[in-house]
Amino acid sequence: MALIGSDIAQAKAHLDRGELVGIPTETVYGLAGNALNEEAALNIFKTKNRPEFDPLIVHTHAIEELDKYVTEIPEKAITLAHAVWPGPLTILLEKKSIIPDLITSGLSTVAIRIPKHPLTLALLKSLDYPLAAPSANPFGYVSPTTASHVNDQLGEKIPYVLDGGPCSVGVESTIVGFEHDAKPTIYRLGGKKVEDIESLIGEVDVKLNKSSNPVAPGMLLSHYAPGVQVHLGEISDLLKKHHDKRIGIISFSQSFSAPNIAKQIVLSQNADLDEAARKIFSALRSLDSPEIDLIITEKLPETGLGRAINDRLERAAVRY
Ligand code: AMP
Ligand code: MG
Repeated sequence: MALIGSDIAQAKAHLDRGELVGIPTETVYGLAGNALNEEAALNIFKTKNRPEFDPLIVHTHAIEELDKYVTEIPEKAITLAHAVWPGPLTILLEKKSIIPDLITSGLSTVAIRIPKHPLTLALLKSLDYPLAAPSANPFGYVSPTTASHVNDQLGEKIPYVLDGGPCSVGVESTIVGFEHDAKPTIYRLGGKKVEDIESLIGEVDVKLNKSSNPVAPGMLLSHYAPGVQVHLGEISDLLKKHHDKRIGIISFSQSFSAPNIAKQIVLSQNADLDEAARKIFSALRSLDSPEIDLIITEKLPETGLGRAINDRLERAAVRY
């Protein structure tokens, strides 16, 4: 098992040797390595069992650092960066050659973010390179929102997890690109609400990649999926349909009763979408157990973080 602690110097020592470390961010925990070191990057893909066509996000600690890694920053990207960073937003920018092609899966753009977590910001400041850090889970599985989630799945493969407590946002960053000069594009719904982004830079396109076999890098259709099958729909209908199965329920704010409910998680008694986002991944993990045949869940309201949560639930429910 990995050591779990809050020692920044120890995390730095591992990273300086080219090793990987679990790091806390406000979105989810990351599996971090030196983004300028190709061997460390390769190790990230191997450790997660992540295909090399799925690019990594590069994390840094200050907007002034961007010049080292990107060739230009469009006006609207600057506006967003100043308003949101540190925060749950990733921006796609044209990369300089210092960023290895492996990091970007051969794309000309690199995904960059300044995460909002005091431990990780302090760690980033202490390093003389940025950190590549995808979510610290095996590829395709539910993302980790605590240090012990990371240890449960990757503890055998990494030496250290920096423990920063449970994630305060709980879903991954929103990804915005500026490739098409006219209108910015959101490629992944996440912790920064579409409404907030539009209030800062005007209208954006939302283009989510839902391909099951993407030729271009991006998000896969099946993702965030626990081992137990997930069904998404009207909970009361699904309960009737699957009366012969041991059911785990994840509901937004209501509770349900039926003799075959093995475990039930209400995301937010007050129907608060931010609270639901904080809890969604640990809810999926805790129902992924041998006592449960099927996880039943429902769509949340399509506003604020509800959109990002629904996106995760839809992908978790996909089976090939
Ligand atoms: P993760 O770090 O696990 O949250 O995944 C990062 C995601 O960012 C990838 O799955 C891609 O969808 C996206 N991404 C990273 N870099 C790029 C890029 N240059 N262009 C488009 N999408 C990107
Ligand atoms: Mg991920």
